[in-house]
Amino acid sequence: MAYNPKEVEEKVQKFWDKEKIPIKIVNAERKNKFYLLDGPPYVNASAHVGHIKTTTFKDIWGKFKFMQGYGVWFQPGFDCGGLPIENKVEKKLGMNTKADIERIGVGKFIQECRVFAKGHESEWLDLYRKIGAWRGYMEPYLTSENYFRESGWWTIKKLFEKGMLARGEKPTFWCPHCETVLSGYDVTDSYKEIESHSIYIKFRVAGKKNEYFLAWTTTPWTLPANVALCVHPDEVYVKAEVSGDILILAEARLDLFEKLEAGYRVLEKFKGSALEGMAYESLLDIPLQETIEHRVIVSIPLMKKKVSGKVAAKKETNTEEGTQFGHLVDISTGTGIVHIAPGHGEEDYRIGEHYNLPSPSPVDEAGKLSEGTGIFNGLTTNEANPVVLEYLKEKKALLHSEKIVHSYPLCWRCKTPLIYRKTKQWFLKMDLVREKILHENKSVKWLPSFAGEQFHNVVEGAPDWAITRQRYWGIPLPLWRCPKCEAIKIIGSIEELKKDAVGKVPADLQLSVDYVDKIKLKCQCGGEMEREKEVMDVWFDSGIAPWASLGYPFKNKEMFENMWPVDLIDESIDQIRGWFYSLMVCGVAVFDEKPYNTVCLNGWNLDEKGEKMSKSLGNVIWGKDAYKEIGADVLRIYICHANAPWEAQRFSFEEARQIQNQLNTLWNLATYLETYGKLKTSFKDEPRLENLEDIWLISRINTTVDEVTHDMENFRFHYGSRKILKFLVNDFSRIYVKLVRDRITKDKNVTWVFNYTLERLLKLLAPYTPFLADEIHQKFYSGSIHLAEWPRCEKSYLELQLEEKFERAMNISEVVNAERQKNGVGLRYPVKKAVVYGNDAVKEAVRETKAVICELSNLKDVEFRQSENVKIKPNFATLGKKFGKRTAEVAKLIEAMKPEDVKDQMKLGEFEIEKGDLILRQETKEGTIFSEGYVTLDLAEDKDLKEERLLRELIREIQKARKEGKLMVEDRITLYLEDKSFLKKAEKELMEEVGASKVEYSLKVKLGKAEYKELKAEFGFKKN
Ligand SMILES: [Zn+2]
Ligand SMILES: [Zn+2]
Repeated sequence: MAYNPKEVEEKVQKFWDKEKIPIKIVNAERKNKFYLLDGPPYVNASAHVGHIKTTTFKDIWGKFKFMQGYGVWFQPGFDCGGLPIENKVEKKLGMNTKADIERIGVGKFIQECRVFAKGHESEWLDLYRKIGAWRGYMEPYLTSENYFRESGWWTIKKLFEKGMLARGEKPTFWCPHCETVLSGYDVTDSYKEIESHSIYIKFRVAGKKNEYFLAWTTTPWTLPANVALCVHPDEVYVKAEVSGDILILAEARLDLFEKLEAGYRVLEKFKGSALEGMAYESLLDIPLQETIEHRVIVSIPLMKKKVSGKVAAKKETNTEEGTQFGHLVDISTGTGIVHIAPGHGEEDYRIGEHYNLPSPSPVDEAGKLSEGTGIFNGLTTNEANPVVLEYLKEKKALLHSEKIVHSYPLCWRCKTPLIYRKTKQWFLKMDLVREKILHENKSVKWLPSFAGEQFHNVVEGAPDWAITRQRYWGIPLPLWRCPKCEAIKIIGSIEELKKDAVGKVPADLQLSVDYVDKIKLKCQCGGEMEREKEVMDVWFDSGIAPWASLGYPFKNKEMFENMWPVDLIDESIDQIRGWFYSLMVCGVAVFDEKPYNTVCLNGWNLDEKGEKMSKSLGNVIWGKDAYKEIGADVLRIYICHANAPWEAQRFSFEEARQIQNQLNTLWNLATYLETYGKLKTSFKDEPRLENLEDIWLISRINTTVDEVTHDMENFRFHYGSRKILKFLVNDFSRIYVKLVRDRITKDKNVTWVFNYTLERLLKLLAPYTPFLADEIHQKFYSGSIHLAEWPRCEKSYLELQLEEKFERAMNISEVVNAERQKNGVGLRYPVKKAVVYGNDAVKEAVRETKAVICELSNLKDVEFRQSENVKIKPNFATLGKKFGKRTAEVAKLIEAMKPEDVKDQMKLGEFEIEKGDLILRQETKEGTIFSEGYVTLDLAEDKDLKEERLLRELIREIQKARKEGKLMVEDRITLYLEDKSFLKKAEKELMEEVGASKVEYSLKVKLGKAEYKELKAEFGFKKN
């Protein structure tokens, strides 16, 4: 019976439920803690394979650490607050604006959010349990619950007390639909190619009739807020005469006139710095512009932000481009003169601060131009664009206008194009924590390590965090202000609220705006304080999860203090600017130390063609469908096996099924052992091992334990799972079983080796395939494997030199088999001799493992001959893809490799390469080469060899006839053969192979014949 994942999983699930295995594990009291914090996903939709991947990785960490003896904190968490939920609810209720929400009532809206946020909670927990993840057996933390939000209040009060929060007015990304500020991360998440105006505008130089600065912009609606023009101090600028006008622009941009087919004449050349301080006239005759003194400024180097995260993932790169230091003015586009509106852009604002410029931002919450903008007043930014254009045309200030397509940020939830708008917000002051974070980050273990540098760059360039939102469904900012005397009060707990409230706080108090906004506080002046109508950014919710999930400090105080900091978090790669960032900022701001020790990053999930999965493309694979298709164990180990956890993964069911075949090997091995191995006999005393293959296998499993443990500690789940499967399929099942076939039923040592090896192998597999490992464990041992201890490498069993020799023997055997195939000689025919050419290491291996090579490759003899080393060359086709610009460096290291260094995976300096990245060359025209030499075969056949081959054919034919005669494996036969001496010589082997209890050398019954070349043998049999 073949391995059936579904049956195994159902059976084991029942066993777990009956014995309460998961409950015992998640509640285990142990001295050493391992705080595994779940980064809370939203559960307002079903889980897709990306969620399964993250859950699998976290669960592997948990199972692995539990088996190592830690008390692991397995609690799952769900993100229940914030704009994502609000948007979905708005859609569900058919609403469009904040006014709509006010109309139906904030209380009702919040009630909808509360229900909606937990929509699929039980479905998620159910899926966690189905894929065998322990986190499915614990009550999850929900970020919208009172205990979580109260902890949030405590945090906010703490931040106020430490002076970390400040009221400020700055331009930030703003969604005119959601009518709220968005943080930097929200924006890097979502960009779209959008068509917009690209206009070349003439600003008249003050006091000149026909002399202009030629500037360029793609956002005409920001022109009412223009306060300056900016040039690059070191670039060359010109005055050029064009159709009677004198225009000032960068020399490098003169090709613009060629494009416009306008003749020009350069009158003067000078550096940009010569323009500094020149005055110009306002472009628009609107009240706001009358108050501004317009000047030319020179640009300064600024930290510029690059698009990253999901945008990079689409290009299938996992590298974050990070930040770049550069001038605001870039002469590769436009005119080299930039229109500056500090109220409408982050870089504009920073240069404005440098020069102390005003920063008007005449746009209201809904994205409409507001007072001071004259004829544009009341238009949305979109509506304003063509009106501004028309105005400029009439004023003859527009040189040229065209449409361009460029990447533009959208609201990550409602997909409305964002604008930059100056608003009053509470900011977390990054300068107060930046240095400390950079310092703490040095001791965080980032897996892979390059993420640590990216994180460093993000922190270095991070602006103050606008931490409040003008919305409803979030942690209410616990700040009350007195309208009479302007005094403010920050509330840090429900107790404090009760103490200071005017009247009684309702018994069913919820920490949501519909409840708390009704509560007024007593002010010292005798007035009544009212809450400021803001909620916290949802990234704040997730940033405080290490303590808020436990309700600290109001609940679980000791437990939190014991577990802090978090030992490990594991989320997708875009969280460098997201959760990893908010956790770090909150952790350092509150506790003055890093909140986590280890961070693991997971790559994206792509579909089979390499496209990113998205609902709009319709290529999303849902978690429950993937589970249904291939089951939990195959899904889990496939996710690990396919590639490095942090790389993008092309999800393929076909590849997953190939892994299932490998697991089937384990199943067959177990069945084989059940039949022949009598493993249930216990062997207390360790036997004296004498056979080479016994000593080898025990060494191999210990080496595998050592390597896999190391791989797992370093999040190399791909290496871990590959090494386990390779050991299982190759070393254990293919090689060892073959070498001990004759001894298994009689030699107690073999049984001991099997027992020793299988138990350890199953333990290594347990985190990857928790069901299958436990099922087979039940067959031979008692108790759940998940309660067992993680195996240790027993160094006294290590025989590394022998392992190396076996590795060579297996290599050679593979090469022999390839050479057989080339010559059309099937493995069932014995071959007279293989000649192995190679170096001294090969010589040594052949000498010691000759019998193994003969057995594995069905050879009569192996002979060694000395030869020159094989040349190892870089395979540029594969290297180029992996290493890009650094290919040459890797190639150089490869050229210097020695043949004995060739492995499946190799580390060369800081690079990791695989066997396929090498090309082997050898000066030989015959045979088949391998990394250390080459192999030829002696294919001569004498009479004995021919008879032996005939014997193989005969066995095959008899077995075929048995099958056709519907005989069962256990049925014994009497075999009738011709009276030939070579048959008599092989009598014993023949009887064993075909299940005969007796042989008669006369053909009483004729059933068939076997042929090899000119030889033939007839046979018959009867069932006993
Ligand atoms: Zn929006
Ligand atoms: Zn007051």
